[in-house]
Amino acid sequence: MSKIQTRGLRKSYGSNEVLKGLDVTVAEGEVVCVIGPSGSGKSTFLRCLNKLEDITAGEVEVNGYSLTDPKVDLNKVRQNIGMVFQHFNLFPHMSVLQNVMLAPLELKKGSKAEVRANALRLLKQVGLEDKADARPAQLSGGQKQRVAIARALAMAPDIMLFDEATSALDPEMVGEVLQVIRDLAKAGMTMVVVTHEMGFAREVADRVIFMADGHIVEEGAPEQLFSAPEQPRLQDFLAKVL
Ligand code: ADP
Ligand code: MG
Repeated sequence: MSKIQTRGLRKSYGSNEVLKGLDVTVAEGEVVCVIGPSGSGKSTFLRCLNKLEDITAGEVEVNGYSLTDPKVDLNKVRQNIGMVFQHFNLFPHMSVLQNVMLAPLELKKGSKAEVRANALRLLKQVGLEDKADARPAQLSGGQKQRVAIARALAMAPDIMLFDEATSALDPEMVGEVLQVIRDLAKAGMTMVVVTHEMGFAREVADRVIFMADGHIVEEGAPEQLFSAPEQPRLQDFLAKVL
């Protein structure tokens, strides 16, 4: 069963059409990496998947909900989708543990003790159980991003979306964050990962989508896409980034 399906997805800002009819299907447990030049619409695409953007035309179905149905309960849709951005946006005045507990407490996902136990389990999963009481300012960039991932996981999402989660990190911290994402992939999480890390995409993705100018220019298995790209646009892109 597909967890995500878009048909003819279009998105315009005023007269600027940035998504020009995307047909994307993501199966349960599948890891899809999205690559492409800056400005090609990758972030806009991800944001359409939890309707952080109004959808101009086409259809988007996520977890069986039609996001283009005006009656859809967006809070319900979004509770099942975790999103991790380039910038972590942790609350600076709260401890790491409080940051991870916040959303499930507000949405009454269990008793305080249950939410706390789950948050501690997630911090352990991302290798930060010893930082539960630290403030975000006391953490490195890689640690902050791992907290942001734990925070997204705290809502027990069915789907995780990553938008260049490692782009703002110092190079030595990229690996520790990619490892957390890799572990999620192994555990069977359905994920759409926008990334500049071609080695990671090649290793972890079940399928890679190359976007340019609001179109899917090429998609396929990572081996195929990276070793035998067919479209000149993708060949050029890979020549620049590999
Ligand atoms: P990518 O993530 O691939 O770099 P984006 O999805 O961020 O690309 O942007 C695609 C295009 O949409 C760009 O031309 C960008 O300027 C434009 N865009 C993105 N967000 C907005 C917005 N909120 N208002 C107007 N234009 C936007
Ligand atoms: Mg982007």
